[in-house]
Amino acid sequence: MLDYEGRVFRPPSEAYSLIVQVTIGCSHNKCTFCDMYKEKKFRVRPLSEVKRDFDDARRMYRRVERIFLADGDALMCQSAHMAEILRYIKELFPECERVTSYGSPASILVKKQEELDLLHELGLQMIYLGVESGSDEVLRRVNKGETAEEIIHAGMMVKKAGMKLSVTCIAGLGSTELSEEHAVKTAAALSRMKPDYIGLLTLLFELETPLMRDWREGRFYLMNPVEIAQETLTLLEHIDAEGSVFRANHASNYVNLAGTLNRDREAMCQKLRQALAGKVQFKDERYRAR
Ligand code: SF4
Repeated sequence: MLDYEGRVFRPPSEAYSLIVQVTIGCSHNKCTFCDMYKEKKFRVRPLSEVKRDFDDARRMYRRVERIFLADGDALMCQSAHMAEILRYIKELFPECERVTSYGSPASILVKKQEELDLLHELGLQMIYLGVESGSDEVLRRVNKGETAEEIIHAGMMVKKAGMKLSVTCIAGLGSTELSEEHAVKTAAALSRMKPDYIGLLTLLFELETPLMRDWREGRFYLMNPVEIAQETLTLLEHIDAEGSVFRANHASNYVNLAGTLNRDREAMCQKLRQALAGKVQFKDERYRAR
């Protein structure tokens, strides 16, 4: 086992990947709904430490096909630093088929297009980007740190570099007050980015966050399953992202949806309409998780 610092998060699709921390924590760490890296102070790990982890992994595993670079904002390290890591991976794990990482919008926007192009050339194949919402007002309220336009631009830079783009959005993030705007503008943002993968999560509180405190103290309303289904239906009705794989089959979702846009959009809308008509059961709160 590698020695990880604090809790390590990874996308569900990286369940069987070798995970190595390139950075610790998240450089932004201020989104009001996020509890992932609150106990960590952001820093870039020295190359020698990262290389030592890879050396240990090489001794432990005969075959490593997938590598996920953690933590929340691995791409925030300088391009030369990341390039060196990617070269080391190529040398040490010639069998590796896929290297991926989280990339916050800021960590992408701070780079030139040529730098992203180079990182892709060196083996970085996919970036997981937290879009959360296409509404500037929702993004402002949850303190995401960027506007929708900036996030869309970051996503498009990733795609232009030739990398795959996997994004997540969060149903319920604007509460009922901004639900319609959140759905319509998120659909518009996704339609422009046309990510390879879209993951729609549903807002859920587990550990203490500023937004959870607002909810507990009556300043934020947490939408119920019917309201979430309506919002998701609005989002799907407005989306035009040909070829994007759409998934809302995460533990946090009340109704599981999965399909390829735009082909399966109507079938997913139909399932939501059935849920709203009481013909499909919502997931019980006890089985939801983040
Ligand atoms: S950028 Fe991502 S990891 Fe960082 S605080 Fe926001 S949601 Fe959490």
